[in-house]
Amino acid sequence: MAINVIAEKCKGCQKCIKACPFNAITMEGKLAVIGPSCTSCGACVEVCPFDAIEKTDEAVHTADITAYHDVWVFAEQRDGQLMSVVIELLGEGRKLANEIGCQLCAILCGENVDDLTAELIAHGADKVYYANMPELKTYNTDAYTKTIYEAITKYKPEILLLGATHIGRDLGPCLAVKCGTGLTADCTKLDIDPEDKKLRQTRPAFGGNLMATIICPNHRPQMSTVRPGVMDKAEYDKNRKGEVIALTPTFKEGDIRTKVLEIVKSVTELVSLTDADIIVSGGAGLGGPEGFELLREFAKKLGGVVGASRAAVDSGWIDHAYQVGQTGTTVKPKLYFACGISGAIQHLAGMQNSGYIIAINKNENAPIFEIADYGIVGDLYKVIPAIMEELDK
Ligand code: FAD
Ligand code: SF4
Ligand code: SF4
Repeated sequence: MAINVIAEKCKGCQKCIKACPFNAITMEGKLAVIGPSCTSCGACVEVCPFDAIEKTDEAVHTADITAYHDVWVFAEQRDGQLMSVVIELLGEGRKLANEIGCQLCAILCGENVDDLTAELIAHGADKVYYANMPELKTYNTDAYTKTIYEAITKYKPEILLLGATHIGRDLGPCLAVKCGTGLTADCTKLDIDPEDKKLRQTRPAFGGNLMATIICPNHRPQMSTVRPGVMDKAEYDKNRKGEVIALTPTFKEGDIRTKVLEIVKSVTELVSLTDADIIVSGGAGLGGPEGFELLREFAKKLGGVVGASRAAVDSGWIDHAYQVGQTGTTVKPKLYFACGISGAIQHLAGMQNSGYIIAINKNENAPIFEIADYGIVGDLYKVIPAIMEELDK
């Protein structure tokens, strides 16, 4: 579908501008012009008193998407440290870039974080676009959006990947709207058609009961946020060479509408499920909050951390920061213990890529056994102390 203004009929009354819910129409003199954020909703067609807007079956104008190239990764940093999802995105970005024969680039915003450019290159970036400004020291929606939007307009990436962190989830939609393109949030799988360069972005839909694969055929860049812990990390090679391109955005008064006064770290950030090699998760089968005491003791012996199913979180036995799954954290430890967890699809969505999965459940028909590498049928209050006893020996 395409929306066109018939120039001979348009009288410049501007009624369509008010009717457009996507701010997609601007005036050029007395002529209404449809912009890239038009979704073909048709609201303006109905409102025009002069029948000057038509909806046609022709494909949306795609002429200039060929100008776009390269895979970009948003190099999210906090306090001068790259988020681990950035290294995962570089790993995935490298595969996509190789598939379509283009460069892998990182876009980095911050103040005096020059060391990170070398780290990004060592993890596979061919180019790093680097904006080094005091206004970018900590994340700010307006400042980051303006900087990256201007870089996108100038350098035209084919694909832009962001971590599905709080920052990525804020920045991604702002950039997508400015660029008039689409954004697929919370992807768990990405692949690309090497012929037409369409990125196939897969994510859970309908409460995780099916996986939807989404494409963005007519607009660029193709944008995705990707959950931390889902993709494999890029390899590190300190001898890799790459180019650093300085970005010099300018900010005038009113460009940045908010100011960061203080940063208070919450308990959520302190729980590092995504970085853990061993996770011992507990579910409704624990029967009460005291069950987590046993799991903490067990996790400590193994050098791991505790996780939880949503049922345990909803029961108020443990904070949501510990929840593993579709609406919690996605994890990929080397070893994952599921203790008293049935194996609902929404829980599996967050842990099924773990190295080894060990399930302890007293119901031998529990679905968790279908994906477990090792299954122990029994009461967790007997099985776990027995394993700990063996570990002590
Ligand atoms: P249950 O399904 O009640 O399973 C308890 C298990 O413990 C049973 O298999 C039982 O046999 C076993 N058991 C009982 N006693 C013992 C014992 N003494 N020893 C050993 N085994 C025992 N869930 C998540 O976990 N994470 C999510 O992110 C998530 N997101 C969701 C998003 C949506 C949109 C929806 C609709 C649901 C979501 N859920 C999520 C909920 C999910 O569907 C399940 O309800 C939840 O995972 C069940 O948790 P559970 O396995 O701990 O509990
Ligand atoms: Fe032109 Fe119709 Fe829009 Fe008025 S409502 S500016 S006539 S296109
Ligand atoms: Fe706006 Fe909808 Fe008209 Fe497009 S079709 S210009 S989105 S009102």
